[in-house]
Amino acid sequence: MDDVLARLRAMQAADVPVTGGRTLAYVYDSGLEEADRVGRAAVAAYAGSNGLDPTAFPSLLRMENELVGVTCDLLDAPPSTVGTITSGGTESVLLAVQSARDAHPEVERPRMVLPSTAHAAFHKAAHYFGVEVVTVAVGEDFRARPDATAAAIDDRTVLVVASAPSYAHGVVDPVGPIAAAAAARGVRCHVDACIGGWVLPYAARLGRAVTPWTFAVDGVTSISVDLHKYAYAPKGTSVLLHRTAELRRPQYFASARWPGYTMLNPTMQSTRSGGPLAGAWAVVSTIGDAGYLALTAQVLDGVDRLVAGVAGIEGLRVVARPDSTLVALATDASCDVFTITDAMTRAGWWVQPQLSHDGRPPTVHLSLSAATAPHVEEFLEALRAATAAAVASGPVVVDAEVVAFVRALDPAQLGEDDFDGLLAAVGMAGDGSELPTEMAEVNALLDLASPDLREALLSRFLDRLQRPLRGVAAEPPTG
Ligand SMILES: *Cc1c(COP(=O)(O)O)cnc(C)c1O
Repeated sequence: MDDVLARLRAMQAADVPVTGGRTLAYVYDSGLEEADRVGRAAVAAYAGSNGLDPTAFPSLLRMENELVGVTCDLLDAPPSTVGTITSGGTESVLLAVQSARDAHPEVERPRMVLPSTAHAAFHKAAHYFGVEVVTVAVGEDFRARPDATAAAIDDRTVLVVASAPSYAHGVVDPVGPIAAAAAARGVRCHVDACIGGWVLPYAARLGRAVTPWTFAVDGVTSISVDLHKYAYAPKGTSVLLHRTAELRRPQYFASARWPGYTMLNPTMQSTRSGGPLAGAWAVVSTIGDAGYLALTAQVLDGVDRLVAGVAGIEGLRVVARPDSTLVALATDASCDVFTITDAMTRAGWWVQPQLSHDGRPPTVHLSLSAATAPHVEEFLEALRAATAAAVASGPVVVDAEVVAFVRALDPAQLGEDDFDGLLAAVGMAGDGSELPTEMAEVNALLDLASPDLREALLSRFLDRLQRPLRGVAAEPPTG
């Protein structure tokens, strides 16, 4: 047994670290060892429990109702508010869209109005549930425009969306006028606070200016908040709140049309591990309200120091003053973000490149954790060095022939040969099992591609990575 765990740990050494505050995307670290330890123990204790039937596992129902209650208190929810724990932000968003669609069976071709900065999860929901997306361009400040949003609502609209804040730029949309415009047409308004929902209420209590976005805003009908982001819970939990039980009703799926148990599910999953729920309950109970207030003060102070530090780095700028814990950085023409990202990886900082979109330049995304805050000066030093090196080497140049090759590709008809040719051109030929560490050229190439082509190329890339390793994992350890 020890040997299997040792092999796991050896494999895990290749992953980005989930603690230590040096990973600024994908993971969120409170820096509190006790909270981590308790959370992991709770996941393990409940790994075999099944949320499929809350009458068989009343402890899971109790934890879910308590967590939803804590979230209601945090988000100014009226007594009518109800909620569900889901597996993550995407599932919360999917269910918000599905509920909105199914509340209107009379609308033949339902639509939802999204600011162009809304999370990709809404596009996934559109794809899964056949809801048409109406995208509205955001303003110069990356915030949704209420007038344009209102103008996009029509008789087929079943949902209007705002972010608090948007993932890519970290700014809060003007939720008040957007929700009012939706309510005036009798349309649901979902606030995607997946990443900011556990930060902004504490930011407001710390005396920072926060655009109103909770259930205190009239017209907001549902809100999603991820526990596995800034509640610092283990991966696998998000909360979806609806203002009333009636609004949630279409979310339930029941089927008695087979000879087994009547299937009754509030989420996309049916068997639901109790592990993530217990882990989230344990972490939220350990950190507590005062703990989150302190962690928020810590991380926002880190954001302030980071923003001030970036202002002193030649070639780099913050694209929008952050409303929360997310910062997007862009460069001037002297260098490029992809070269900087690679240099940061070499220096042991994991930051996330974001491709150009809607006429706006590519950026570096930073999700700061409380555990990052004590290391901001160190981070800035690495960023200063990475940017200076990127300026010295100049912007990455993609070979003109490769550019021409990519521009000629038809995403709908991407052949295996085309893809092999492209991999070879960017020096990634082979079976795809070796992941590259130098990504600047690949990212620069993707940046030139259309969204359709980016999707096709990256899907093909993942398809190549996901191939079975046969007869390996089940082998008993040798030696
Ligand atoms: C992270 C995020 C999501 C998606 O959540 P997952 O947990 O990754 O599925 C949706 N919206 C926003 C704003 C997010 O930051």
